[in-house]
Amino acid sequence: MSRRRGKSSLIGWVFLALLIGGVFYVFNSKMFERTSPTITLENNGYWNLRKPLKLVISDASGIKSYKVSLKTSAGETVLYNEYLIKYSDSISIDINPPRSAYAMNYKKIQVSVEVVDNSKWNMFEGNKAHDEFVLNIDKKRPKLSIVANSYKISKGGSAIVIFKVEDENLKDIYIKTNYGKKFKVTPFYKKGYYISLLAWPVREKTFKASVFADDIANNSSKAYIPLYLKNKPYKLSHIKISDRFLKGKIADLAYEFVETQGITDPLEQFKIINEDVRAKNEKLIHKITSKVPDEMISDFKVNKMYPLRNAQVVAHFGDHRMYSYSGEPLSESYHLGLDLASNSLAEIKPQNGGDVVYADYNGLYGNMPIINHGLGLYTLYGHCSSVTVNDGDTINDYDVVARTGKSGYAMGDHLHFGVLVQGIEVRPQEWMDSTWIKLNITNVIKDAKKLINRAG
Ligand SMILES: [Zn+2]
Repeated sequence: MSRRRGKSSLIGWVFLALLIGGVFYVFNSKMFERTSPTITLENNGYWNLRKPLKLVISDASGIKSYKVSLKTSAGETVLYNEYLIKYSDSISIDINPPRSAYAMNYKKIQVSVEVVDNSKWNMFEGNKAHDEFVLNIDKKRPKLSIVANSYKISKGGSAIVIFKVEDENLKDIYIKTNYGKKFKVTPFYKKGYYISLLAWPVREKTFKASVFADDIANNSSKAYIPLYLKNKPYKLSHIKISDRFLKGKIADLAYEFVETQGITDPLEQFKIINEDVRAKNEKLIHKITSKVPDEMISDFKVNKMYPLRNAQVVAHFGDHRMYSYSGEPLSESYHLGLDLASNSLAEIKPQNGGDVVYADYNGLYGNMPIINHGLGLYTLYGHCSSVTVNDGDTINDYDVVARTGKSGYAMGDHLHFGVLVQGIEVRPQEWMDSTWIKLNITNVIKDAKKLINRAG
């Protein structure tokens, strides 16, 4: 008795083990997986009915079938209804809108996606997934028009533009140039209007700029800014480096800068100072002077600049300097400001107030305050002996900000006066000329306001 019972219980145990094993197998095999397929539709809730929508469906056991349809107020259109013969665990599908949809004025389209996988789960029917995506239809490109701009721009110079953008779902507005610079824009005067200063860098052969507007649905518009280009020649000068200069100023600077530590060859020191240190100093200046206001401005006024009384120009903006030693070319640089000299330790008084955004030492530029005058316009004062303002100060027109000197890369007491537009050095002479300011900035703003007022 006991033996037979033992035998049958053994069979029972084996059967149970097989059953558990079978169940375990079913639960863990890919063939019987129980996870629904995943559906991913790349979208941000908007569709312009031009760019295809990217749909990705995937499943560990492979996809058996899928169906994609578009639902509108007019009904349902099936775009795909496929049964897969070949195994695939991930499929990427471009959903193109039916031609008829573009002509219709649907406000919304619903994308419906149904997927069934290859699993034997669910009585061999597989796992199902079903997703609906509601997309707002926006086929309209932003409406873009130039309201007013400076008549011309000179090589190395500045200009201004005011334009209008209309779009319900506006995402991004900017100005792009032929040389890759993107100018930021500031809301101006009334809703939908924008303003920006422009700059043609002295090192660029030509200038071309267009306004770009993009909306959330990826509709975009472009408007060319019609500026008359005025080429301006700049001086190319050949400078011979003397031993006296290397042993004097260069040795002093080399002692001071991190970049020249351990370098003993004076010519190498000069090259590093003129190229690497200069690039680093300019990079900092460009970073500080790239900001524009985000808040709407109702006007932009600027006084004729003349930071140093009774000053003589001792070096011009835009000079291309080629340095040589014993007849061998050594290095080159561009002079990106206007050098003015009067008495030693003369007071520097900007005619335009603003916010002090830097008031510290900056390598070749020596002690250097930078003032933000708004709309991306900045002025910089280099080689100062002392700076009398602090970073974060707000100054009024004609406040003293510093005294001239020869700190940094300067041989005699002078002011290196720099004007920058969104991080680009421009010709200070334009901003030192009241006629230029009137014709190219003030009148353009005035005209734009008249047109905006007339538009209501
Ligand atoms: Zn200078």
